[in-house]
Amino acid sequence: MGISVLRVENLIKRYESGFALDIPHLEFQSGRIYGLVGPNGAGKTTLLNLLNLLEEPTEGEMFFEERRFTDLDPLDIRRKMTMVMENPFLFHTTVFKNITAGLKCRSVDKKMWPAMSKEALRTVGLKGFENRYAPALSRGETQRVAIARALVLKPEVLFLDEPFTNIRQRDIDLFEKLTKTINQEYQTTIIFTTHDLPQAHRLSDEVISLVDGRIIEGSIENLFEGTVEEIDGTQSVKISPKISVSVITEKRGKVNISIAPREIILSHGAIISSARNSFKGIIRKIQMEGQTVIVNISVDEEVEFTALITETSFKNMGLPIDSEIYLTFKSTSVTIF
Ligand code: ATP
Repeated sequence: MGISVLRVENLIKRYESGFALDIPHLEFQSGRIYGLVGPNGAGKTTLLNLLNLLEEPTEGEMFFEERRFTDLDPLDIRRKMTMVMENPFLFHTTVFKNITAGLKCRSVDKKMWPAMSKEALRTVGLKGFENRYAPALSRGETQRVAIARALVLKPEVLFLDEPFTNIRQRDIDLFEKLTKTINQEYQTTIIFTTHDLPQAHRLSDEVISLVDGRIIEGSIENLFEGTVEEIDGTQSVKISPKISVSVITEKRGKVNISIAPREIILSHGAIISSARNSFKGIIRKIQMEGQTVIVNISVDEEVEFTALITETSFKNMGLPIDSEIYLTFKSTSVTIF
């Protein structure tokens, strides 16, 4: 086990809107990369804001390196953690002044600034950008300067709130490599949020899934809301007017369900098996991800499933876009929460 850098216990944050983030226990270990995923409004930013002391919890405790936040000087904790936002704001001045603003606040010897700034800019791939006027930079460059501005402070924990959202697709690779480089070269613990699940899995040592303010063990792929119905002693969850998913549960009323993409079997015809759930759909999207292929299948106007298959199965089956396909999964493969 690594060293605990951040830990939360019985953490609750309630907003007047009715939303509540409720995390009984969560630990982040030093030097690892954590991807925080979840649908819109799941509480990802709220969690980052609490850990980064931008917001106060309603209840519960947080620990930095096993010491209670409340026993530490907030300034000391803040010095060890930095956040880069989705749309970072750069001051209307040079890149150098932007990067060194934090050093000034921390009273770092001015003689050190050029070397520190140079090193941070080199890491983010913007060598020689010191004298560029920050507002004239492209989005990707702005994001990189924001990361350099965070890095120059040598944080122990770097929070990245949807850092890749506004980046051009072809630059995403570069940013993913940069995230790994920072983690390895600086030994920084990185906690980032994303809506891109394959990316979360690519980059993270651990993926944390949040739904409605709670951490879930199941997958957030194939996540649906519905109502439990019981007919002749068997339960199902109606996730759209036409689609009901057979489940095994004692729960009643409204629930969320999820199905891990690897649990879904694809076939050209309906298969006779003990698995209770079998649907016919149309292949809408195919994405290669290393040796795995991500296949998106729409079953009706409202319901789309994601399945993962190996590259070999994909080649053997021949799965063109817009073709019909059957998907099958067991009731026991459905997580209910
Ligand atoms: P997204 O992926 O859309 O950024 P998220 O998972 O980061 O979403 P949060 O921004 O943490 O979600 O928001 C969680 C819920 O809390 C939302 O319903 C949001 O409207 C609400 N919320 C966030 N901040 C506040 C606030 N300061 N006051 C009241 N409600 C808030």
